[in-house]
Amino acid sequence: MSESALRERIALHGKSLFDRGYGCGSSGNLSHRLDDGLLVTPTNSCMGRLDPARISKISPDGELLAGDKPSKEAFLHLAMYRERPSAKAIVHLHSTYSVALSCLADIDPADVLPPITAYAVMRVGKLPLVPYFRPGDMALAEAVAKLAKAHHAVLLANHGPVVAGKELDGAVYAAEELEETAKLHLLLRGCDLRLLSAEQVAELHQAFPS
Ligand code: ZN
Repeated sequence: MSESALRERIALHGKSLFDRGYGCGSSGNLSHRLDDGLLVTPTNSCMGRLDPARISKISPDGELLAGDKPSKEAFLHLAMYRERPSAKAIVHLHSTYSVALSCLADIDPADVLPPITAYAVMRVGKLPLVPYFRPGDMALAEAVAKLAKAHHAVLLANHGPVVAGKELDGAVYAAEELEETAKLHLLLRGCDLRLLSAEQVAELHQAFPS
């Protein structure tokens, strides 16, 4: 896909996510890898009103090459791309249910979401929690990088998810699946749950390797 077509796709997905309540104000950012860097949504931009021509283009070192100034969270995307050569697109959201999940004190930091549905297992997989760091702290990128090699989706504590995909549609679908699964998990808290068994999860990994 050409760079201009990718810019259009980022704006299209941004509007779709925003219109359905996956972000508010200027929260959330999307990116796509290019041969010579990446496209990432600009700082203080609203996902619902992105101008494709103004989407930032930055070098692999984070230097601005074209468009508006990039999101302050572009370093999270860069850290994830560095560790995952197969990743072509990344979605980071401050979506309500995923953020709510990231604030719970009694979750397992090695795997935040229990296996509620087959699609959560297939699209999100094992979801680790990244410890809290203040916005802009480069230690956050290091913490993401540590987990990104083994996980295409991570949850930042008291913040939100970062999800990578082999293409933009896949990254967006996985982020949406994560948000919906977080919602289900919170709806079901306190209920007597029937989770997928270890055998059922293993069967999914075998049938649909990521
Ligand atoms: Zn954020």
